[in-house]
Amino acid sequence: MDYQAPPRIPMSSPDLTESERQAVLSVLQTPNLSMGPQIRAFEEAFRRFTGSRHALAVNSGTAGLHLCVLACGVGAGDRVLTTPFSFVASTNALLYERAVPVFVDVDPVTGNMDVEQTAQAAQDLQAGGAAAQRWLPRTGAEAPGALKSLLAVDVFGQPADYDALRGISARHGLSLIEDSCEALGAEYKGRPAGTLGDCGVFAFYPNKQITTGEGGLVITDDERMSTLMQALRNQGRAPGDTWLEHTYLGYNYRLDELSAALGAAQMARIDELLTSRQQVADWYAERLAEIPGVEAPVLIPSTTRVSWFVYVIRLARGADRAALAERLGARGVPVRPYFSPIHLQPYMMERFGYRRGDFPVTEDLGERGLALPFSGKMSEEQVDAVCRTLASCL
Ligand SMILES: *Cc1c(COP(=O)(O)O)cnc(C)c1O
Repeated sequence: MDYQAPPRIPMSSPDLTESERQAVLSVLQTPNLSMGPQIRAFEEAFRRFTGSRHALAVNSGTAGLHLCVLACGVGAGDRVLTTPFSFVASTNALLYERAVPVFVDVDPVTGNMDVEQTAQAAQDLQAGGAAAQRWLPRTGAEAPGALKSLLAVDVFGQPADYDALRGISARHGLSLIEDSCEALGAEYKGRPAGTLGDCGVFAFYPNKQITTGEGGLVITDDERMSTLMQALRNQGRAPGDTWLEHTYLGYNYRLDELSAALGAAQMARIDELLTSRQQVADWYAERLAEIPGVEAPVLIPSTTRVSWFVYVIRLARGADRAALAERLGARGVPVRPYFSPIHLQPYMMERFGYRRGDFPVTEDLGERGLALPFSGKMSEEQVDAVCRTLASCL
């Protein structure tokens, strides 16, 4: 007799309806496939949703982060305080400009930058000498460099502590970049994620809260930064340049009209999309409370609204995560370790001499975190099935 495998639950799935399909098809009825009305509509939707003065759609979250780094004037040898508990793009955007990411460890509850350590690191780096050395990587930061900026990440849809981070950046004259690629719709003390620094970035890969296939978007209230970033995303064409005039070394970071139309249709449903993700997270929280040996995500009071991106549980210390993942996978429940610390990626260890043990909280979270299947499309029965399988595999 054939063994009938249980239906596999997808790790994530985009939430798309007829309105998204129609939006994309209608662009195909026109000759405007780039730099047209859909981009403008998509950007307008973000200005409205976040209250931000400027919005620039780009072709990935990583491209958006790179533009922010450029607009903040971060260059070769400059030092930027950031987190090793993130997706690699937040650090890579600094490396593209040959800046030195200076990591501080994270808060064990939220996984966001530890603000006390960040304050100390900023003070020590500006003091220089032995005090600064303690924060710098073993190699790759020999040349003197100025502390220029702070790049924080809103991990798993929960904003970092921006009152503290803004205080630090004001005290030391640093720009503040907010990687909100996981936090569209989240709020910190009632203020929208993405608006909490000098510029903020969102991303629209298919597992994010909204998708454009590939895509990203930068928001800022700063006119100068916006104008510069608009030029840089469009091959360095400044206002007034013709198609073949390029004031700056730029990039092609433009989003196309089809993707923008998809994004605008998703933004028209943003409340519904966030609400269904919240519902799925609530179903998970209820059931996980009954399962010993796993910790559900914890929200802190400054998170007046979380925006669920992934659903990451923590296993007990010493649990065999790989074996558990294997058993779950065999029973139709895909799971992923999340995040894998940035400082332990091979290219980072080679360039900066990082070792296991350098950022213990990040490593602990990295070793115990397990992302469960998650999307706004999951049914209560699917959440039930995941939790029952998890309980029995533990
Ligand atoms: C998704 C994500 C990005 C951007 O990813 P892209 O694939 O380039 O759109 C950046 N930072 C974080 C923390 C992310 O989760």
